[in-house]
Amino acid sequence: MALKTAEQYIESLKDGRVVYFNGERVPDVTAHPVCKITNDWVAMDYLLNNDPRYQELLTDLDEDGERVSFALQPQRTREDLLRLREVVKLWARVCFGKPTGAKFVAKDGLNAVTVVARRVDRKYGTDYAAAVEAYRKYLQKNDLAFAMGLTDVKGDRALRPSEQVQHKDFYVRIVEERPDGIVVSGAKTHISQAPACNEILVAPCRAMRAEDAAYAVAFGINLDAPGITMICAQPEISAEADLFDHPLSRSVYINDATIIFDNVFVPKERIFLKGEWEFAGDVAYMFANFHRLSAETYKAMELELFTGAAALMAEYNGILKKPHVREKLTWLVMYTEAVETLGRAAVEHCVTEEGTQLVYPNPMIANICKFYFADNWHQATKYIQDIGGGIIVTAPSAKDYFNPATHDFMEKYFAGKAGVPTEYRLRMAKLIRDLTSSYEDVLTIHAEGSLEAQKLSIAELADWARYRAAAMRAARIPGSESHPLFAELPPFPPQL
Ligand SMILES: Cc1cc2nc3c(=O)[nH]c(=O)nc-3n(C[C@H](O)[C@H](O)[C@H](O)COP(=O)(O)OP(=O)(O)OC[C@H]3O[C@@H](n4cnc5c(N)ncnc54)[C@H](O)[C@@H]3O)c2cc1C
Repeated sequence: MALKTAEQYIESLKDGRVVYFNGERVPDVTAHPVCKITNDWVAMDYLLNNDPRYQELLTDLDEDGERVSFALQPQRTREDLLRLREVVKLWARVCFGKPTGAKFVAKDGLNAVTVVARRVDRKYGTDYAAAVEAYRKYLQKNDLAFAMGLTDVKGDRALRPSEQVQHKDFYVRIVEERPDGIVVSGAKTHISQAPACNEILVAPCRAMRAEDAAYAVAFGINLDAPGITMICAQPEISAEADLFDHPLSRSVYINDATIIFDNVFVPKERIFLKGEWEFAGDVAYMFANFHRLSAETYKAMELELFTGAAALMAEYNGILKKPHVREKLTWLVMYTEAVETLGRAAVEHCVTEEGTQLVYPNPMIANICKFYFADNWHQATKYIQDIGGGIIVTAPSAKDYFNPATHDFMEKYFAGKAGVPTEYRLRMAKLIRDLTSSYEDVLTIHAEGSLEAQKLSIAELADWARYRAAAMRAARIPGSESHPLFAELPPFPPQL
């Protein structure tokens, strides 16, 4: 089949999957008014892939001459990674900063298992790389939407998977091995757009030890498989929400769902890790490498929108030229462009996986970029909220604005700078409300890995020997001579 149409994708969700939303079973996600928001957003992937204007960027011809999604191809060169960035940018620009989710997160998981499967095969003589490739083909040929199930519910964060006290299912684990596959139980949480996907790629979210071997498991599975239950995330909006009041949250409900695996059978050809605990951390870190790149790419697109909203609101409020506002806007420009530049640098300095033709983003730069944008997000929201004023949260709703009884009052009293339609000022205030919601705050801090996760990686990857040698040389402490960068440097100051 290769490329699906948007209609075929929507049809594919009518498969009897078990989904709960707001306390009720959803018999058909395509007929549910709020789940439909997610489905329509995910469907943009299919609309864009079928649009001749974007096909060259978004799709490739496979060896059978069939058009397939480029996002599902393995990344072999820097140019592939640069192209992937352009793909994510397009997805994000089209969907107001939120890349359409059919392949967005899980492509990074597929890349991660592609790299790590080879490492496991080299050590154990397993055949995981072939299984991953077969799964990749299956996803491509059927143009499936798939979610990434990395984050476990985790229970007590201070305890390892096997040490958990209340029960042993806080991390997804193998509960039974059979000749034809495995049976798994446990739960993954915050899994973006899962109820709108066909498949889920499951992988461990942390490094493991020998005693955690049952938890070192990676596999792909269809989301209508017996034993899978999805509980939708509480949305920011209701089904009645208006696009005027909620321009972002009414357009994109990411639906970061909780997925329960209750004795789910996984056939052996869909297994990519099964007990090789030393590689659990590799999968998690490799996913993070790829996904931080994706996050940095879309975040720069979200930030161009964010900075634009700050500038427009400043103009509408009549304060564009005020010194404190210019200072804040300039800071926002630096923030936006620094995220874009660091994200690109992670690709320019990508790393080739030993013994393969696969590349991945530079982990040091990718982690620094993710940390930088997440750590500064609240500063950015502080600035835009300051520029916008209280109207961001106190403006009456669209129903009042369009009610003849109150419209003229609002038109008169919510006006800002002369010449700017009141409606524009109200619309921009609503956009800023959405952009600075607590959902956006938590998403920016935690999605793609929490701040400490990046700091850990950065500290581990840091070139301490280089930093130390530079300091030793300046302090005239012996030691720097053995570092290749410093060994041959001329003495300084010169003896003239
Ligand atoms: C909007 C959104 C979308 C997401 N989408 C996906 C998705 O599609 N797929 C997916 O797999 N995941 C997804 N995630 C999950 C995301 O990767 C996690 O939220 C993130 O890794 C943090 O994990 P957590 O939420 O369990 O927080 P926690 O791990 O509970 O973090 C809370 C605090 O505890 C600290 N902490 C935790 N453990 C330790 C420890 N052992 N020692 C010291 N400190 C510790 C953390 O540093 C942090 O300060 C998403 C998250 C969000 C918010």
